[in-house]
Amino acid sequence: MPLPVTSLTDTTLVSDLTARLRDVPDFPKPGITFKDITPVLADPRLFGRVVTAMSAPFRGQHVTKVVGVEARGFILGAPIALALNAGFVPARKPGKLPHRSVVERYSLEYGSDGVEMHEDAILKGERILVVDDVLATGGTAEATAKLVSRLGGELVGFSFLLSLDFLEGPTRLGRERVTTLLSF
Ligand code: AMP
Repeated sequence: MPLPVTSLTDTTLVSDLTARLRDVPDFPKPGITFKDITPVLADPRLFGRVVTAMSAPFRGQHVTKVVGVEARGFILGAPIALALNAGFVPARKPGKLPHRSVVERYSLEYGSDGVEMHEDAILKGERILVVDDVLATGGTAEATAKLVSRLGGELVGFSFLLSLDFLEGPTRLGRERVTTLLSF
């Protein structure tokens, strides 16, 4: 199990989230159960509680930039960055960023892909939190962490809304660096 963020004052968050997450079977291909967070995002109170809870373990840790992974990591990462008084950096699918970029390839639960960041997005020594909605195999987050390190950033940790623990993502990333609100 990754470090749970359930030492929260918000004791009903886990049950409220569980009730609102939507499982979509066989999306985007047969055998994958897609964890759809859009019902959570559509509820402003619940969305706010998620942002507060995902930021909480990193308060006081001098995070200077939050890296959000395309695409749902943008939605969660931007308000978490503001909550931590940090900047926001998008980690995008290859070919989308306008300026000079660095790329890492990785394999996904359903296919393979890459992740790209602007080469000047992180300054040497900056303290970085990586945010995404779902931790599956950990390939995406691991590739993002490699980019952070290549640019001279110091990884403070990873914050996910949920982890599919049976895919061993927390083990791949290092359990002590991973926080998540829910584990399946
Ligand atoms: P992975 O690299 O295998 O950890 O996959 C993580 C990325 O794929 C994240 O950006 C997730 O948003 C997405 N993802 C993987 N599996 C799922 C799933 N079952 N439900 C929703 N998103 C997923």
